[in-house]
Amino acid sequence: MSKFPERMADVLGTPPAIAYLDHAATTPLRPEARAAMLPWLGGTFGNPSGAHAVARAARQAIDEARDTIAGVLGCAPNEVVFTGGGTEADNLAVLGVPAARPGPVLASAVEHHAVLEPLEVVGGRTVAVDRRGVVDLDALASALTPETTLVSVMTANNEVGVVQPLSDVARVVRRHAPDAVLHTDAVQGAAWLDIADVAAGADLVSVSSHKFGGPQGVGVLVVRRGTPLQPRAIGGGQERELRSGTHNVAGIVGMAAALAAKASARDEESTRVSALRDRLADGLLAEIPDAVETAGRSAVLPGTAHLTIDGVESEALLFLLDEAGVCASAASACASGAQEASHVLAAMGVPLRATAGALRLSLGWTSTDADVDRALDVVPTAVAKLRVAAGSLR
Ligand code: PLP
Repeated sequence: MSKFPERMADVLGTPPAIAYLDHAATTPLRPEARAAMLPWLGGTFGNPSGAHAVARAARQAIDEARDTIAGVLGCAPNEVVFTGGGTEADNLAVLGVPAARPGPVLASAVEHHAVLEPLEVVGGRTVAVDRRGVVDLDALASALTPETTLVSVMTANNEVGVVQPLSDVARVVRRHAPDAVLHTDAVQGAAWLDIADVAAGADLVSVSSHKFGGPQGVGVLVVRRGTPLQPRAIGGGQERELRSGTHNVAGIVGMAAALAAKASARDEESTRVSALRDRLADGLLAEIPDAVETAGRSAVLPGTAHLTIDGVESEALLFLLDEAGVCASAASACASGAQEASHVLAAMGVPLRATAGALRLSLGWTSTDADVDRALDVVPTAVAKLRVAAGSLR
């Protein structure tokens, strides 16, 4: 242990144990990522765009990371475009395709705001989902035209965890709009799924390092050969002119190490964490009357338990959970921390009253039985307390 945390503990006292159940927001750095990054945060440095020995060493580190990432994501190394995270990858896809090839743009109604806001900028339309949050393939087919230039359907949803049938989406898109580019936001999916397999039919694939145990602020857009795409960041011409800017070398090598570690632990982690998630969700459903599991459990990411709890307000519930050492979320994290009505739940047709009591508990690679025990102890008590308070106010 380093001296710094010890002295912090002297000052602040031993921190209370926390059950961290917000891995979909961000997950801890994997040791493999930390080890890979450390040299680049100390004596080793270099601008990979340069020509001398120091620059070439940085370039080599980036090239090796690119090879690793390409191997895991199932693309060629020169199809990996490094970005400053998932949001930037999504923006590049949704703004960059219609800039290169103008035409109608479609996206599922449950996409992250990193897709929906650029969609609005390019005048795109959303496609309906069913009650589980799965994109409606008939609605998609009738919205497509031969002129459609881009379709964006996420690999898995960040709020309710539902996994989209991407190969069916690709089939429908190819049939009705053969020239359209298919983008998938695999930011949540990459933490659990084999992206090389599930996103094989997509032309553009966004991933974000901090969701699978790499550092924050770095990501990838896979750009398959021949995909029309105009850059957003222009200047130095890095990343085959698709994303200018000096590379984040430490971030990129950390991301590659995290992705490789994730890939080799994927099956074991999925089995272990989905068992924890099942125990958590079953326990909460048994203990909390009128709690409903929003998207069920089949075709949902192993780490996600999303409930709606009648008669409580998410914000008040999250406050009580936080006080009791349980970190959870109501919807996706947003910059202000304020809770807004969820567009995902609205698109799924969840009634507004139920939406008000949304709770997302998301587990990850460091989750343990102790986290589940803590949540099973704390959440039902907090809900009961809020319901009593709400009853006495009526
Ligand atoms: N897309 C999805 C589905 C996400 O869950 C997130 C982050 O919550 C993002 C995009 C944005 O990624 P980043 O935090 O790397 O900008």
